[in-house]
Amino acid sequence: MPYRFFNGDLIDLEPGKIVCVGRNYLAHIQEMGSAVPEEPVLFMKPNTALVPLEEPLRLPAGQTCHHELEIAALIGRRLSRVDAGEAQAAVLGYALALDLTLRDLQADLKKKGLPWERAKAFDGSCPLGPFVPPDQLPDIQSLGFTLHVNGALRQDGRTGLMIYPVFDLIAHISQQFTLLPGDLVLTGTPAGVGPLVSGDRLALALDGRFSLETTVH
Ligand code: ZN
Repeated sequence: MPYRFFNGDLIDLEPGKIVCVGRNYLAHIQEMGSAVPEEPVLFMKPNTALVPLEEPLRLPAGQTCHHELEIAALIGRRLSRVDAGEAQAAVLGYALALDLTLRDLQADLKKKGLPWERAKAFDGSCPLGPFVPPDQLPDIQSLGFTLHVNGALRQDGRTGLMIYPVFDLIAHISQQFTLLPGDLVLTGTPAGVGPLVSGDRLALALDGRFSLETTVH
């Protein structure tokens, strides 16, 4: 899927890898009964996970699939072992994304000490909305973002509550994984994750100004 800005303009970058952080909000760590990590918990999704958020979401059949509302940062230049300032200068835009997670399968894999990919990186596991340029979101660490499902507020995120702020996180990632133009960084989910089922209507908003709607097929 091509990347676009909210105003409809195409972004001339091939989608690349998606580097995600788990456990970046304390309340989500607590709802999962997980431990607070000593450094960011990183995992990846391939670009085949990306689908347009506005199109009806097709979930894997017969599995418990949770929504994780997250803010995605689009990387616009090559980043290797950079600091937070260089990371900030490389971000082309921010979007709302869902880190769809097959929760029962993930729990089973965790219990067996196996990697998470089957639960996190499947086709369609990263519905992505359009991007907002950074100059329209001057302070990325003081934003609200929300997910309503069938009219009920499920996730009410505030970026100020991130354990690892966006630019520190990107800088940290770049110490081990070189980020390339077109890569995405998903910055973690706040509390309130839960299952999606066929027919659900989702309403997402970033900073109360950039709104999206979608459905579960
Ligand atoms: Zn997540």
